[in-house]
Amino acid sequence: MVKILATDGLHQDGITLLHEAGYTVDVKKVEADQLPNVMPDYDVVIVRSATEIRQALIDQCPNLKIIARAGVGLSNIDVEYAREKGITVMDTPAASSKSVAELVFAHMFSISRNLHLAHREMKQRGGSEFKEMKEACSHGLQLNNRTLGIVGFGRIGREVARIGVGLGMKVMPVDLVVDEADIGINVYNSGNVRLSVRLDTYEWEEVLANSDYLTIHVPFKGGKAIIGAEEIAQMKDGAVLINTARGGAIDEDALLDALNSGKLSGAGLDVYENEPMPRQELMEHPKISCSPHIGASTLEARANIGLELADKILAFFGD
Ligand code: NAD
Repeated sequence: MVKILATDGLHQDGITLLHEAGYTVDVKKVEADQLPNVMPDYDVVIVRSATEIRQALIDQCPNLKIIARAGVGLSNIDVEYAREKGITVMDTPAASSKSVAELVFAHMFSISRNLHLAHREMKQRGGSEFKEMKEACSHGLQLNNRTLGIVGFGRIGREVARIGVGLGMKVMPVDLVVDEADIGINVYNSGNVRLSVRLDTYEWEEVLANSDYLTIHVPFKGGKAIIGAEEIAQMKDGAVLINTARGGAIDEDALLDALNSGKLSGAGLDVYENEPMPRQELMEHPKISCSPHIGASTLEARANIGLELADKILAFFGD
């Protein structure tokens, strides 16, 4: 019988699927110092980002067949070493794409209608200053007819494009590898409405120069920022930058300079160079709409992650 340890939790839908196949699933938090004692009993360990699975731990688990990451990103796992040892490493990259894409628009709406400011001001100042607050937050912009640049036209980039097209935005994707034949997207496929579109392909410089909103969806792994001072200088005055990919993909010093000088009019950030302690200047900045790395944190994404992982584990064991 297959024994699974889910040390950082797993959605009930995934657990149910595995139970139905007769697998044992123990959902319990095991502290790092106890993992070498507990993990050798299991065929599969499921973690999120909180648990590290390094070489020394892998060496102590000769029966381990799968290390599964509930979510995206394998930086907490020694992937190559595990694979050398014949262990399969899997994650669920597709499960949260729609949730991340919706958060992009939450930030875009927040910035374009000053919602982040309005919310803070109304809580702090109270009803007696309603007229002043209305005045301060009343310079809103519509997203309709604006240009949306998407850097990285993968799973999330495509979901962002769908919503952007639905809002009547001009969508300009740019990717290192997307070719002419790969640029069609299904915008809607629900009920009696089915709509597909083909997008034109664009060069990096064109996207930088024309975007009113520029959103990043590349798997940034550190090093030079994708958007730094040089790229911001090429952008339209008053543009808005959104980063839900990884901290550091946008250079935070360059972003603050551009917001303070008025070159950029706003930013939406879900990820930061320093997590879990982002710079205070970013948190307090009136032109930034912030969220604490919650792109994948929806009920639906969690359920999808549980189901996708359960499917992959069942397929591995031939069930
Ligand atoms: P994906 O692999 O499906 O797509 C990434 C695309 O970026 C690929 O098409 C690739 O060719 C392209 N690309 C890579 N480098 C590029 C560059 N320099 N310029 C242009 N294009 C480039 O990835 P995805 O599933 O869409 O995820 C994108 C990012 O979202 C990842 O960084 C991931 O870590 C992040 N993410 C964040 C959250 C969150 O909670 N905020 C949740 C899930 C994923």
